[in-house]
Order: sequence, then C-alpha cells, then structure tokens
Amino acid sequence: MESHPEIRDSVRALCVGFPGEYWREKDRNRDYPTEFVEALTEAGFLAVLIPEVYGGSGLGIGEASAILEEIHKSGCNGGACHAQMYTMGTVLRYGNNAQKEMYLPKVASGELRLQAFGVTEPTSGTDTSRIRTTARREGDSYVINGQKVWTSRAEHSDLMLLLARTSPRDIGPKPHDGMSVFLIDMRAALGNGLSIKPLPAMINHSATEVFFDDLHIPASSLIGEEGRGFRYILDGMNAERILIAAESVGDSRWFIKKATDYASERMVFDRPIGQNQGVQFPLARSHAETEAANLMVEKAIALFDAGEPCGAEANMAKMLASEASWGAANACMQTFGGFGFAEEYDVERKFRETRLYQIAPISTNLILSYIAEHVLGLPRSF
Ligand SMILES: Cc1cc2nc3c(=O)[nH]c(=O)nc-3n(C[C@H](O)[C@H](O)[C@H](O)COP(=O)(O)OP(=O)(O)OC[C@H]3O[C@@H](n4cnc5c(N)ncnc54)[C@H](O)[C@@H]3O)c2cc1C
Repeated sequence: MESHPEIRDSVRALCVGFPGEYWREKDRNRDYPTEFVEALTEAGFLAVLIPEVYGGSGLGIGEASAILEEIHKSGCNGGACHAQMYTMGTVLRYGNNAQKEMYLPKVASGELRLQAFGVTEPTSGTDTSRIRTTARREGDSYVINGQKVWTSRAEHSDLMLLLARTSPRDIGPKPHDGMSVFLIDMRAALGNGLSIKPLPAMINHSATEVFFDDLHIPASSLIGEEGRGFRYILDGMNAERILIAAESVGDSRWFIKKATDYASERMVFDRPIGQNQGVQFPLARSHAETEAANLMVEKAIALFDAGEPCGAEANMAKMLASEASWGAANACMQTFGGFGFAEEYDVERKFRETRLYQIAPISTNLILSYIAEHVLGLPRSF
C-alpha cells in the first residue's frame, strides 16, 4: 500500500495542471517553472518540513518524500524547488532564535526563497575540505571572496546557504575543520560583491556560477559556531539523499508506466511490441529494481523520522534509486525505439533529467566509498 495516500492524491491533482507541453516549453527555453513552483508553494507542499510554530506543517521526511516522488511520477520535476523544502534544515537545527524567527516563517509562506546552496567549487571537486572561498571577519562583518559552481537556482532564490573557509585547512586537527556556514541575503548582495552567471547545462536546472568579490555581509549571517560548518552541512545530507532517492523512484515509475502503456499499444509485426519478451524483460527487471530501491528508501525514511542514525541507508537508497531510474530510463527509451528521441513523448527529456542523480548531489563512487569505509570497515581510500 502507498504511504500518505491523501498527500499523494493532492500532489497528483496539482500536477495534472502541468502536463508534458508545459515542461517541454520550459526545457526548450531554459525557463524557470515559476507557475509550478508557485502552485506547490500555495498548496503548502514546500513547507512540510518546517515546524508549525514557524508556519510550516511540521511533517516528516516520509511526507516530503511522498510529495517529491509523486511530482516525478507525474512527469514533472521537483529540481526547481526541492531545495526550498530542506535547505532551511541547517537554519532550523543550528540557527539562533533570531535567525529562525526572522527567516523560517517567510520561507514557510514562500515570501522568501531559500533554495540556493553554495558548496561545490570548480577546483575542489568532491573534496569539500579544499574549498577556497573565504570569509574573513572584519568588525561586525564578514568579507567573502571566492567562487562557487553549479549553484542551482541562485537566480531564483532570495537567500543562499554558503559554505566558506574561516580558517586555513591545515590549522585544525581535521581537514574539514575551519569551514563555516552563512545565510546570505542575496537581494542585498547582488551587485555589491555578489554576481551570478548562468551555466548552460544538459538539463533545465537553473545552474549557475556564483562569484564573491569582497562581499560584505553582517556578522549575524553566521549560522551556529564558526569553524563547524562542514558538520552542519553534513547533518542535512541524509535528508537530501532520501528526498533525491524518492524523486528517482518517482522517475522510475513514470518511465515504466510510460513504456508499458506504449508497449501495449504499439503494433509491429501484427502484435503489440510488449508481447515480445525482449521488450517485456527489461521493463520487468526495472520494476523489480525500483521496488527493491523503494524498500531501502522506506527503511531510510523510517530511521530518519525515528531520529536514528541512517547514513548508510540514506546513501544506499540514493544509489539504488538513481540506478533503478537510469535502468528504467534506458528500458523506456529502447521500448519507444525511434520515437523515444521525439520531444513530444517527454522520454528524452526525462532521460536527460534522471541521469543527474548518479552524479549530484553526490556521485555513486563517493557513496560506494562511504559504504566500504563506514559500513564494511575497509580502510579509507582517500
Ligand atoms: C545540475 C547540477 C546541479 C548541481 N547543484 C548543486 C548545488 O545546488 N550546490 C552545490 O554545491 N553543488 C551542486 N552541484 C554539484 C554536484 O554536487 C557535484 O557535481 C557532484 O557532487 C560531483 O562533484 P564534482 O562535479 O566536483 O566531481 P569530481 O569531484 O570532480 O569527481 C568527478 C568524478 O570522479 C569521481 N571521483 C572523485 N574522487 C573519487 C575518489 N576518491 N574515488 C572514486 N571516484 C572519485 C567522482 O565520483 C566523479 O564520478 C550540482 C551539479 C549538477 C551537475
């Protein structure tokens, strides 16, 4: 049985208003799906993880996952706004009362968008300890210098959560010490030391490069304690992994349904192509892989919502679900044959979109090395 059936029904009903033509046009023009994001905001779906005291609905990761899965299962894409759901988690857990009271109600209502997350840099790659963006304390301010890359949605966000070095890498006992997290008001910063450059990419994800050139921000922008930022960011990663896994499961189910429907209707050699085992088996395999991945997503959700450690399960869920959705994408493309390449069926768009999840927000190799080291106890490889 499906979890949270009422929420799923409402999301499905909302998504009916955003059919393939809508997404195709956005994709073609690389436009932000403003209408879709506004509809989700008005329905309260992006505020489910914010506690009621700050104007959200105070629900768990299970409800948030159901929302994102349904969005993707309906052929839509949550990438334009999923970060509005969870980026605030760092402020909620580590921000002080003034920061929480100032920002969380406005994030919950959608008055403020907090969906830009600046971690990745061009030179550091996955080795976050080597980021070069610095925040230097000067009186009541911090001065930010450096560059981020692949910062999604920066042009569609009022606030940015930024990871920057406040002391050099070799000063603390661990390479990840000395980094701090800041909540930056991008509206005040744009043109005053902050600039954003769109980064054209394979999918419509509002990717950007962000440049900091002596950007002065108030010292009150610091979240939590100076030097502990990496731990704060790390703490939010399980939620992100689970939610991305749920999106992948949604994609996978979309591909399998799309392919199954087509295989039942498309007649070649006087019979539906779906009568051939060569067409059936890849879809049947994808179904099995998706259901198995979904069990791991559910396990991770249960642990997360119970406040139990779930790093292994969240990582495994994300890896298995992203691989299941890619398998389903390939099977769907093959089932459609030449028509899989035609924009009008949405297969090629979703095919491009779902490929992302094996790379971002964390690539498969890094998940495997996490499992090898932290679950299996093998020596650290890097
Ligand atoms: C569309 C898109 C949106 C994104 N949005 C954001 C965002 O909003 N904010 C943000 O901060 N970042 C964002 N990212 C960045 C994303 O998180 C990174 O691209 C991803 O984590 C991989 O890092 P990298 O590109 O630096 O790859 P690299 O670290 O350069 O790695 C390249 C390849 O080498 C492999 N590799 C590296 N080291 C090892 C190792 N030790 N062992 C085995 N294999 C290894 C990796 O697995 C990968 O396959 C986004 C990326 C994309 C493409």
